[in-house]
Amino acid sequence: MAETKYIFVTGGVASSLGKGIISSSIGKLLQARGYNITIQKFDPYINIDPGTLNPYEHGECYVTIDGQETDLDLGHYERFTGIQTTKANNITTGRIYQSVIDKERRGDYLGKTIQVVPHITDEIKRDMKFLGAKGTYDFVITEIGGTVGDIEGLPFLEAIRQLKWEFGKNAVCVHLTYVPYLAAAGELKTKPTQHSVKELQSLGIQPDILVLRAEHELSESLRRKVASFCNVDKDCVVQSLDLPSIYEVPVKMQEQGLDTAILRKLQIPIGETPGLGPWRNFLERRRNATEIVDIALVGKYDLQDAYKSILESLSQAGTYNDYKVKTHFVNSEKLTQENVAEKLECMDGVVICPGFGQRGIEGKIVAAEYCRKSDKPTFGICLGMQMMVIEYARNVLGYEDANSREMDGKTPHNVIDIMEEQKNITNMGGTMRLGGYECIVKEGSKTFEAYQSTKIVERHRHRYEFNNDFKSEFESKGMACVGLNPESDLVEIVEVPANTWYIGTQFHPEYSSTVLKPHPLFLSFVKTAIAKKKACSTNSENFL
Ligand code: GLN
Repeated sequence: MAETKYIFVTGGVASSLGKGIISSSIGKLLQARGYNITIQKFDPYINIDPGTLNPYEHGECYVTIDGQETDLDLGHYERFTGIQTTKANNITTGRIYQSVIDKERRGDYLGKTIQVVPHITDEIKRDMKFLGAKGTYDFVITEIGGTVGDIEGLPFLEAIRQLKWEFGKNAVCVHLTYVPYLAAAGELKTKPTQHSVKELQSLGIQPDILVLRAEHELSESLRRKVASFCNVDKDCVVQSLDLPSIYEVPVKMQEQGLDTAILRKLQIPIGETPGLGPWRNFLERRRNATEIVDIALVGKYDLQDAYKSILESLSQAGTYNDYKVKTHFVNSEKLTQENVAEKLECMDGVVICPGFGQRGIEGKIVAAEYCRKSDKPTFGICLGMQMMVIEYARNVLGYEDANSREMDGKTPHNVIDIMEEQKNITNMGGTMRLGGYECIVKEGSKTFEAYQSTKIVERHRHRYEFNNDFKSEFESKGMACVGLNPESDLVEIVEVPANTWYIGTQFHPEYSSTVLKPHPLFLSFVKTAIAKKKACSTNSENFL
């Protein structure tokens, strides 16, 4: 396409309506039509990035291949489209202000008074156009975090107002709202939507397309009413009902013509409707998978969003193994030698989750010991891997005081140590070992069996590492270091070959599992959990 087109996605009435999923679905549908797309998110909060946020505040921190800590919606963008995002795809108010203030200090503004309008809004506009200006994308989809009406969102909406004016027919705004059902009145209510659109209009933005989130089917006449009250074409009002899986959303959006409405508004010829073949096959397989494999997540955050990418990776791997993965959160803070068997015995596999700090780590170590000794398929991720290593050091190498430098600054058996380059860092934000690093996988290992490749690139987010001073001792006593960074020799993967599937990765494989390209380690982990489950139930049948 000659010119890049811009799609802005805003939300109203309430948060958590699924703007990220709608943005991802739009991306998916346009991609299926052969267009080059990218999806970016602008978050109105003041943090420079979500890296320093507690997961209870904002869910998981997602990491891009180029090492940016970002909002978890970028995970959805990648899982839906298979296209990697970068640091340019997630901008916060903090980053905008930081860059404006840096410019002011350099004297770039030549004596001007720096104001929200035009300096902050100009900076937002520049960033909103940045990826589009590369000339590689037909569509740039921009999701705005938060809800219309939030004070901190105002500069972003002002930037969109200006850009819509500037781009003319090359920009559309998709607004997502909520239509509640009042049970007592037996009615669906459109007033919140009308108010939300009015709010946008008062800021000078006329939405072109409305996506109405609802728990009950919206009638044709209700949609017509919304269209006429909100100055929107009738075929530009789309409903988004609750679905069994977020991955069903693109198909439902296509059925209702969300993509064609966008194309029409942008004056682009519509052409044939793409079949979404592989995507539909995935959904079909997902629907047909009825048997359940039970996987425990041992972690300290009792919140779905905190382990979002792990949950999605597991569920994708389940589908490709024709099983439904049922995840069970096991709070590591409450896990002890006394109750570990009760909590984990019935699980077919166990994931020991990533994390930071002391809280809950002893429970993770207890879980690692129980799983190793009972030969449960076990997947340790980042801190989870480190806890596997500590457990092994304590119980097999015989170092009772083995620990990570993160938790115990004095132990002589710091089998997990601070990385050299991390020693003098005092600023916490954005300074970890972040993003994609190469790793060489040892042939013949279980990990190699999964990857079928010796050369991999995986994403990192940590300050501590396996201490190579202990490497030969671990290896001679049965824990193999099967993945190494080719430049630094850092240990990236450990496994216990004597066990069926006991693997820990210093990196985060969950960031790169997508719907059409599930991650090999998750596939192999879930496959093994299923195989063990089957063997187990056959045994008990024999026993009966
Ligand atoms: N806290 C550990 C480290 O910084 C692990 C981090 C993580 O699990 N992402 O090394």
